[in-house]
Amino acid sequence: MSLSFPVTANPRVAGDADYDAIMAAPGFGEHFSDHMAVAIWTKDAGWSEGRIQPYGPFLIDPATAVLHYAQEVFEGMKAYRHADDSIWLFRPEANAARLNASAARMMLPAIPAEDFLAAITELVRTDARWVPSGGGEQSLYLRPFMFASEVFLGVRASAHVTFSVIASPVGSYFPSGIEPVDIWVTDKWARAGIGGTGAAKCGGNYAASLIAQYEGYEHGCSQVLFIEAAGKDRIEELGGMNVFLVTSDGRLITPELTGTILEGVTRSSILTVAADLGLRPEERRISPEEFFSLIADGVAVEAFSCGTAAVLTPIGSFRTATDTYTLASPAGERTLAIRDRILDIQYGRVPDVHGWLHRVA
Ligand SMILES: *Cc1c(COP(=O)(O)O)cnc(C)c1O
Repeated sequence: MSLSFPVTANPRVAGDADYDAIMAAPGFGEHFSDHMAVAIWTKDAGWSEGRIQPYGPFLIDPATAVLHYAQEVFEGMKAYRHADDSIWLFRPEANAARLNASAARMMLPAIPAEDFLAAITELVRTDARWVPSGGGEQSLYLRPFMFASEVFLGVRASAHVTFSVIASPVGSYFPSGIEPVDIWVTDKWARAGIGGTGAAKCGGNYAASLIAQYEGYEHGCSQVLFIEAAGKDRIEELGGMNVFLVTSDGRLITPELTGTILEGVTRSSILTVAADLGLRPEERRISPEEFFSLIADGVAVEAFSCGTAAVLTPIGSFRTATDTYTLASPAGERTLAIRDRILDIQYGRVPDVHGWLHRVA
């Protein structure tokens, strides 16, 4: 039986002054809409108690399992308002499938894709005023997540699990224009290993990557590129974004999925639109030696990272402990063309030829 998400309206929604101030400068992940979606799973009864309720804190017992053993997964996606005021999701079935793949890795229950979509649809409809308008790159960021909510300190899969979706209006990632970023290449820290949790979108991976990110800050970089942990022989991805090189002859090179890389919806969409833009995608193993010599030899002239939050972020250089590899055309023509194409699809400015959009309001 599928879940329904009846709405309990928030009696204390944000007032006009607060709402106007937030929407004028939303930032990223700082402000939240008036409501949230919640559903509960128990080992005995499966999923139940679907609802939209006023946004607010969970009451967490100190012995709640997630606080101790990090049994948790999440998703990141957005709702986009088109010029005609309709509201759309981008490939939400891909997020549902990925949440369930992550959940399976962490011994959390699957949530049926239709229930996942129903929670998001009801939340976005209820909080439609929080989906920014006015073009640009503003959107309502959606954060579905699932965690072990059983009060129990034994080490086993939780018999009580909470699924929730919260929503945060977000501004353009580059409010003052697109700026290439510098990427630190860590040879000290790993984010994932073979057989580990690298292909799951789980909080633990982020906790493990923070130390490398701070190492990057010390070297003047804003993000970190990880190399495979055991053999140090393949490039993987950033802490929360996938990575691509663009060659001067139109090849689009990205590391293949090996079980240690998170499969981004943006990554997969870029591999598809590449062909529409006359680029030739190459998904394959890339050693650090090859990766850096492609840049040093002037074969790879552009590079970018990608993910839902920033879409595409142009990369200016990669820095290792000994060398700096600078891209010849940071924020180059092809990077910007791919970025524009993805955004144009998301905001309904070009025909949705791949059938990626899903209307919610
Ligand atoms: C979420 C995430 C990405 C990007 O995925 P998108 O679906 O494109 O947002 C890439 N790498 C990691 C580690 C992630 O957690």
